[in-house]
Order: sequence, then C-alpha cells, then structure tokens
Amino acid sequence: MRYYVGIDLGGTNIAAGLVGEDGTLLKQLSIPTNSGRSAREIVKDMADLAKEVADLGGISWDQIKAVGVGVPGTANRDTGIVEYANNLGFYDEPMVAMLEEELPGKAIRFDNDANAAAWGEYVAGSGKGSRSMLAVTLGTGVGGGIILDGKLFRGVNYAAGEFGHFVIDRNGIECNCGRRGCFENYASATALVAQTRQAMEKNPQSLLWELCGKNINQVEGRTLFDGVRQGDDTANQVLHQFIEYLGTGLVDLINIFQPELICIGGGISKAGELLLKPLQAMIDREDYAATSRNRTKIVVAKLNNDAGLIGAALLES
Ligand SMILES: [Zn+2]
Repeated sequence: MRYYVGIDLGGTNIAAGLVGEDGTLLKQLSIPTNSGRSAREIVKDMADLAKEVADLGGISWDQIKAVGVGVPGTANRDTGIVEYANNLGFYDEPMVAMLEEELPGKAIRFDNDANAAAWGEYVAGSGKGSRSMLAVTLGTGVGGGIILDGKLFRGVNYAAGEFGHFVIDRNGIECNCGRRGCFENYASATALVAQTRQAMEKNPQSLLWELCGKNINQVEGRTLFDGVRQGDDTANQVLHQFIEYLGTGLVDLINIFQPELICIGGGISKAGELLLKPLQAMIDREDYAATSRNRTKIVVAKLNNDAGLIGAALLES
C-alpha cells in the first residue's frame, strides 16, 4: 500500500489527512488557520501537520509518496503559485516552493479546493469507475469541478467549474459577481432557504411555520424537506419550483458536457430521493440526448467533507 497526505487549507482550519492509495482516509487532524498570518507561517504549520498525521497513522515519513494541498483560491499549477486567496489574504504566494523547502524531497501537488473535492469524489466516492463526471456542490453558493475523460479540466485561469455563475435568467436576481440571474441565486442552499421563507410569508397556514418553531429565521434546507415529507402543500410547491431551477441548470450542463454522472454535494443533497427522483425525471424529459441509450445519472456525493482531503492527497502531478 502506498500512502499520501492531503491538506485542506481553509480560511478557518487547516486539515490534514493520511490517505491510502485506494482512497481510504486513515487518520485526520485539524488546527486553526489563524488567517492574517504570513503564507510562510501558515505553510510551516501545514508541513508540521502533514508529518503529525503520518505519525498518528504509524506511517514513517519516508513511506509518504506525495503531499497534496487544496487551496481556497486560484492555484496556478504551472508555477506552483497561489495567485489569489481572498479568505487568507494571499496574493502571488509561491506555495509549492515553500512547501518543498519545509518538506525536502517530497513530491508536492496542489489545486483549487473545489477541484480537489471533485477529484476526491471522482477517484474514491460516487464517481469511482466513471470516465466523466461533474461535481455540483449546493451550499452558500454553487461550486463545482469538471472531470472529462479521467482528467480534471481547469481552464486557462485554473478557474473552470464555476457553476454558480452561468445565467439561467438574464433579467433575474442580481448576483454579487455583477451579472443577473446566475444559477447560484436560484439553486444554492441559500436560495432554497430564501424561496422557502418567501412562500411562508404568503402562506401563514403552512406547516412550515410549525417546523421552524414559528421563527422564520430558523428555517434551514431541512425544514423544507421535513415539510415535503409531511405533505405540506406550500413545501411541495417550493420544492417543485426549486427542482425546476436546479434541473434547468443541470440540463444545460449535461447538454454541454454529456458527463456519465453529475455528483450533487452539500447539505441539501442529504434529502436523497426527494431531490434526485424529480431531478432525474426532468433531465430525462429535457436533455437534448434524451432518446440516447446512455443517460447521465444524478448521484449524491458520498465523501462529504472528506472529499477535499482525499482528493488533495491523490491529486495527479
Ligand atoms: Zn454571478
């Protein structure tokens, strides 16, 4: 068995995982990032944590084949430089060179964190065994990653897979990117909560009010799905509308990429069949290749928060 270490560098925490070549996460550790410090200080902590997690798993440092890092920003894989990471205040930091200094002789790999997470699902999660997959994560916004014919597709600026910002309504909701009607304003977890609240305001008799303790600020994604399970009409209408938004975007992606799989991640993906069944039905109806034999399957992400660590560990050089 070969061993790897994956590091997920976040604005709040640095996590490190010891990962086997088969994609099993064997051990993990996490420390606060204390962002605001220099890249050099943060990189030193990352290197120490990498060694600690190997140690914790009883694996000698010599046995670690490579260390991979997922960074929350633009990771230029040609230069090894983090060009921009807003959460960390990093501009043009030579992260790979700094890690090579801290960890002499070790192969260092790095990528954007969304790409690392998509890669994790692809090699060790829901995408295992497929050739082409899109990862679509429904959270505060919508993030993602593109794997085509077994390779991560990164684009010229290493920023491909920004699925949150293609437009599904040109005259729609204003987006923080400066455009209108971007997908994430309709299909993120944040959007689902906003849609649920709007419907509740119009329907004071809805069971959703009971489910959030009559406090609209307590509404979460799961509140809506609880309402649907209990047969509430308002909840069903909100879900129906949300599926149409989400499905519209996913059909667009399918028409462009024709992936084998779309892997849906984020908290609301836990709704499982409640979300997947109507989505798959819409896709089967609207997809341009709807009459073809090979249908794109919609699946739920398996690795959850571990995807980033596993994917970083197993990044290709
Ligand atoms: Zn946008």
